[in-house]
Amino acid sequence: MSTHQTGAETASGLLSVEQARARIMALVKPLTTLERLHVRAALGRVLAENIISSANVPPHANSAMDGYAVHSADLFPVSTTLRVIGTALAGVPFAGRVEPGTCVRIMTGAVLPEGADTVLMQELVQRSGDKITAQGAHQTGENVRRSGEDIAIGSVVLAAGRRLLPSDLGLIASLGVGEVSVYRRLRVAFFSTGDELRSIGEPLAAGQIYDSNRYTLHGMLTRLGAELIDMGVIPDQRPHIEAAFQEAAQATDVVITSGGVSVGEADYVKETLDGLGNVDFWRIAMKPGKPLAFGKVQQALFFGLPGNPVSVMATFYQFVLPALRHLAGESAATMLTIKVPCAQALKKQPGRTDFQRGLLARNASGQLVVDSTGLQGSHVLSSMSRANCFIVLPAECGNVPAGALVDVQPFEGLI
Ligand code: AMP
Ligand code: MG
Repeated sequence: MSTHQTGAETASGLLSVEQARARIMALVKPLTTLERLHVRAALGRVLAENIISSANVPPHANSAMDGYAVHSADLFPVSTTLRVIGTALAGVPFAGRVEPGTCVRIMTGAVLPEGADTVLMQELVQRSGDKITAQGAHQTGENVRRSGEDIAIGSVVLAAGRRLLPSDLGLIASLGVGEVSVYRRLRVAFFSTGDELRSIGEPLAAGQIYDSNRYTLHGMLTRLGAELIDMGVIPDQRPHIEAAFQEAAQATDVVITSGGVSVGEADYVKETLDGLGNVDFWRIAMKPGKPLAFGKVQQALFFGLPGNPVSVMATFYQFVLPALRHLAGESAATMLTIKVPCAQALKKQPGRTDFQRGLLARNASGQLVVDSTGLQGSHVLSSMSRANCFIVLPAECGNVPAGALVDVQPFEGLI
């Protein structure tokens, strides 16, 4: 197996973001191991089976209002006076039948009695003793929730491949289903490379910095629900790197590293990976995050992210996240992009796709606009922390004037 620079790049010698993503996705095959979980434990997990309704929800036609269950024939052409023959409460149905000329007092959620097809809101009824008279105009079927109007028997309520939300847990429970099949969690090992890096708790000597990438990776991977193996900081020396890759690939689905893939540094990583896997070293037409290594180390997918802290996050969101969601069994995991005007002019050189850090907010006149969060260097994590979205400026685009519509990817909803 070998590592190599790939061909088929753009005229600039760079791979476009879309090309890189397509190559990555082509290599990702969803997991096949499943587990059964109680519905409560399945939040955030990816459903591995279609959930099919074995019943109508609601199971019976019932009232959407407090009022009177009537026969609509009694309302047209003019409302007649009706005799109240009983009461239907939620959970306590009325046992008899509503014959023409009669009605039943009914509360919200109570089963619609036999014979009735319409509920008159109590506010639109005049009652005296056991008689009522309807006021105003009415329609057949008003204020009735039909059986199966939420979920029809036999329908696919939730499809396999869905990452379960709180509403889904309720939906599954509403069918009386207590256990579901989900894909097992991803196992992801990650480490940082760099002789200059120190971990929290260690003193910094001249020229050293604290490793922050393992913390952003920890955060992003935790939100994805992965099982994590944090292997710490590995020095830039071949034996250390080699041992780390070997350990990382043991029984994991994915190995992620940061640092050591830029032109000046990639050589020893390349040499190390020669014997362990099949990895491509790419230069991608994006900013931040030009260098990226991708391939397989033993059986594990491997992402070699750049070292700069914002590059790590940008490449994670654009490449690693869609790949891991697909690997985890999730279908249709597309990223939401919206178009909004930018509040101020944005600087941009044509050539690479920019992922600028933006703040999406309402301006004084209530319009949703996006503004830059400031310095855009790939080492400036503080402007990433202030951001709530990426402003995505296409490769060919240059400076953007204030007020122009730009594509924005909100972070909320990116897991
Ligand atoms: P590299 O890709 O290894 O050339 O690193 C590019 C830049 O990112 C250098 O300034 C590194 O010091 C910095 N860097 C690399 N890894 C980390 C890390 N884990 N945490 C913070 N900064 C890093
Ligand atoms: Mg380095």
